[in-house]
Order: sequence, then C-alpha cells, then structure tokens
Amino acid sequence: MTGRIQKALSGFYYVDTGETVLTCRARGKFRKEGISPLVGDRVEVRELGNGEGVVETILPRRNAFARPAVANIDQLVVIASAAIPKTDPFLIDRVAAIAALKDCAVAVVLNKCDLDPADRLYEIYRASGFPTLRVSAETGEGIADLKGLISGKLSAFTGNSGVGKSSILNTLNPDFHLQVGEVSTALGRGRHTTRHVELHRLSCGAEVVDTPGFSSFDAEELDFALKRRLPETFLEFAPYLDQCRFVGCSHTREKGCAVLEALRQGKLQKSRHDSYLRLYEELKPLRDWQEKK
Ligand code: GDP
Ligand code: ZN
Repeated sequence: MTGRIQKALSGFYYVDTGETVLTCRARGKFRKEGISPLVGDRVEVRELGNGEGVVETILPRRNAFARPAVANIDQLVVIASAAIPKTDPFLIDRVAAIAALKDCAVAVVLNKCDLDPADRLYEIYRASGFPTLRVSAETGEGIADLKGLISGKLSAFTGNSGVGKSSILNTLNPDFHLQVGEVSTALGRGRHTTRHVELHRLSCGAEVVDTPGFSSFDAEELDFALKRRLPETFLEFAPYLDQCRFVGCSHTREKGCAVLEALRQGKLQKSRHDSYLRLYEELKPLRDWQEKK
C-alpha cells in the first residue's frame, strides 16, 4: 500500500494512505543506508494491524531539504516584510537560490502591508519573475490571493522570525494553531520544545509544512552543487547566461558579460545581482569534494 508521510515525530512516521493514517516505524535498512524518510515522502508501507505499519520503500523524490526536513515541496513561500522586522532581500535571494537548485518554485509574500506597502521589495521580486503578493494577516488584505497561490500545492513557509508566518497560517486556517497545539498537548510538552515537522491540510485545499522554530534555510544547503550552478539559480539571468563573451564567465566583473550588460540596461534588478555577488563570494572557498550526493 502507498501513502505519504504527513508527520515525523520521535522516530515514528505518520503515513496518510488516503483512507487512514498509519503510525509507522521505518525499516532498519534505511538507517544502514544513511537515508531517513522525510515528511512529504511518498512511501510503500506494510500494514501490521491496529493502525500500525512499517515504511518499506521511499518512492523517488522530486527534492529534499535538510531544514525543514521535508521532501517533494512544490513551492517555497517566503514571507517578508518592510515593517519591523524588515527583511533583508539577501535572505530571500539565498533561500530562493537553494530552492531553485532543488527544482522548487519560490513565491514572495510581503506581509504587514497595513503598516508598510513594501514597495521596494514588491518591485524587485515582481520584476525578477517571482509571484509576489502583498498581504496583511492583521486586516486580511491579500489573503484570498494567497489562498489562490497555494491551493492544490504543497508549500513550505519560511521567513525571518517575527514577519508574521504564524499569523498568516492562523488567518488561512483559524484552527491551524489548534492542530499544532493538539500535538504538543498529547506529548505533554510545549510546542517550542517539540522538534517535529508536519504537513497540514488547509481548508482552501492547500498543504503546508510548518516547522516550529524554523526561520531560515540552514547553511548546510550551501554546498558545492550550489556553487557550480549558482548563475542558473537566479532564474531571470537565464536569457543572458550564454551570451557572455567568455565561456566560464562568472558574471561578477568580466568585460563582455551579458548579465552585467542587462543589469546596466535595467533589465535585471541590482539588488538581485548584489545577492548573487555575495553568494558567489560565500561559496568561493567550497571545494568539489564538498558536493553532496
Ligand atoms: P512569526 O515569528 O513569523 O511566526 O510571526 P508572528 O505571526 O508571531 O507575528 C509577529 C508579530 O507581528 C505579532 O505581534 C503579530 O501580531 C504581528 N503581525 C503579524 N502579521 C501582521 C500584519 O499583517 N500586520 C500587523 N500590523 N502586524 C502583524
Ligand atoms: Zn557573464
């Protein structure tokens, strides 16, 4: 029987088979092979009765992330704000590059627009080809558009702490915090001491993963693969990448660089290219043996 892992907690995997949710252990061979099942994984399970089962096989993944520990994400929703706390565009560009490397779409949601319309961020991300929305968890503005953006997909929400991630999720689903609360009560612990990842189905037909305490993608995702493919993870650079004068152009300062020319002509956003330069420098010391398989 096949299903999808909905929740991972203390070595148990909760597998939704469409009819029921089975509480499963993973087969020992996964540990030996150094693989762990992730929330979002499609798996084959063997039923043991009493609502229990064993995860036998993990079906091929579209992508997998270390933090949050999830697989098969369709879309990363980056929550940002121009009110306090103000989001540094570099943080958005960093997670967007990591997501692009893993074939995961990125949308930018500018929250707290009742306090500040975030004109600058709105311009940068719209012009760079990201679905970009302005919302307010406080007034409900833009929340209907957000539902449209996420419905029918599995999204991971990320954003710096305080931008309103929890508020938005609660606005989308008034009983969302109850769902989170139930888990912690069952364990007799507070929600922030429980490290678990869970996939939630919202009433608008969206699925989201929320990870308590998670604010930004971990640095362990910054590996050699990202270094090698950095230019292509800035998707809007694509039309220019093979137009540069020199093969192997780093698009940082070369003569005849088509990316830099597009930047001069205002076809690319300076803020995005600045982040590219910063990531380029950050990744420079990595060597090819640091590439993850
Ligand atoms: P998280 O850390 O990203 O989960 O952020 P929270 O959802 O806990 O929100 C942080 C603070 O910002 C709280 O005091 C919220 O009431 C406030 N907040 C969240 N969204 C909005 C909004 O759209 N407008 C205003 N004015 N305040 C908001
Ligand atoms: Zn170039």
